Formats: sequence, C-alpha cells, structure tokens
Amino acid sequence: MLHAVSRLRAARLALSTKPFLARGGFKRERCEGCRLLPSHCLCALRPATPTRAGVCLLMADIEPLKPSNTGWLVADVVADTFAFGWARTATDPALLRLLSDPQWQAHVVFPGEYAAPGRVVRTALPADAVCSAGGLPRKRPLFILLDGTWAEARKMFSRSPCLDALPVLSLQPAEASEYTQYKLRRSNRDDHFCTSEVAAQCLHLAGEHTAAMTLAAWLDVFTHHYLQARNQLPVAWDGAAHRRWREVNGPAGEAGRRPQLAPTLSTSCTTGTCPTC
Ligand SMILES: [Zn+2]
Repeated sequence: MLHAVSRLRAARLALSTKPFLARGGFKRERCEGCRLLPSHCLCALRPATPTRAGVCLLMADIEPLKPSNTGWLVADVVADTFAFGWARTATDPALLRLLSDPQWQAHVVFPGEYAAPGRVVRTALPADAVCSAGGLPRKRPLFILLDGTWAEARKMFSRSPCLDALPVLSLQPAEASEYTQYKLRRSNRDDHFCTSEVAAQCLHLAGEHTAAMTLAAWLDVFTHHYLQARNQLPVAWDGAAHRRWREVNGPAGEAGRRPQLAPTLSTSCTTGTCPTC
C-alpha cells in the first residue's frame, strides 16, 4: 500500500514538466516502493511496528522527489505518517483538519533557540495531556517535522501561521547519539540530523522505544543499500547494518526475505516488476 510520502511524491511528479534527476545520484530504473535500484530493493524487509505516535511531515517543494529523502523511511515505519507539501502562500485544508483533530497533541520539532521561550518544551507529552484514569496519555503525540534543507526548514518554521500556536519540541543533542548515523547527505552542522533521525528521537521521547530503534535500524539498512547501489557494489547481508536490523527485528526480520537466485515478484513491492523482492 502506498504511504503518505509516496502519494505526495506521485502528486509532485504529476506536476513536473520534466523528469526529476537527483544530483549525484544514479539515474537508472528505480523501485517505486523504496526508490532503490531493483538489484538493491529492500521492499521485502519493510517493517510493521505498531506505534501510538504520529508524524506529520511538511515537505519543501522537491523534497519528496529526492531518492535520499528519509521522510519516506518514517512513513515506512510509522503507520500514522502524514505528508504535505509546504507553500508560503497556501495551507492544505487537510493539514488544518489534522492540526485541529482532538486525538492529537501536536508539537513542532525545531531548535528552541528560534522560538519564543514560552513555546519551548523538552518532552513529548506535557503533563496536562496525560490521563491518569486509564493510565494512557489522553492525546496521542503528533510530531510535526519540517523536511527540507536547513534554510527551507527555517522558512517553514517562521512563515507557517498554522504552526504559531503549537508548542515547539526542542531536542537535546545528547539524546540523539543513539539514533544518528546519517551518511546520505553531508551537513556542516553537527546537530543537523536527517528527518528519520529526528523522528526516531521523537519516538524515543514518547516512550515508543521499539519503534525508535526500528526506525534507526531501518535508516542504517536503507543507507547501506543506497550507498552500495550508488557505488555498484552488492548488498552485504551479513554486514553491520543487517546485523543490527536482525538484532532489532529478530531473525524473522529477514528470514526468507533475501533475494533468491530465481526471484519471484513480491506482493509488498509496488512496481510489480522489481526482480529482487
Ligand atoms: Zn523496492
């Protein structure tokens, strides 16, 4: 089933007048399910991890088109992931409906130094959102992540009136070390994490530790497949990324899912033509 980011990507592609060519990336056929070359497809490994938390991605214009975008990985792991294209002059009505849905306690995830001090929180679940009667939080945490370059994210943060009344969740770099392995794009800022790393930190803060570890390990596996494909090298199924994946998901996480010498089509691959999953 297509997730929110893949649907947004398809909608954005439909608006394009010419094919999108990723800078520095490979330009051969890609799997529609994971955006990798068919020889490095990881659709068959896609996890199913129940989470109470949701993620709302506000994505800069061409971000959904980039094969290295990691918001896609968040949508792979967190079932309630929502994705919207961001524009300065218009706000998607569906985003407004989501933000006003009473089941969610929404937070904008952004460095606190850029927000008024009164808006900044350090934890995902404010005390007034916790229901003691049932022992469960009354509202589900919804993390709003601004997905783009740093400059684009700053613009989205400062020019989105619909976010102005929401608390700003400011993550602490010390909390991030467990979930930060980003190697797909380089950044000059040591504390500039990729979208899936930020989402993993948010899940951790919300007490969703299994989902946080799954997402971190999923990024590792995706990064390995992506870089091996770019360098025309085979997948190392017994390498560090896949060992960690099996540690998080158990041996069943991969059992019987590796590409076979005589591959068959996978029901989880949306291309219908992918030869390896
Ligand atoms: Zn695939």
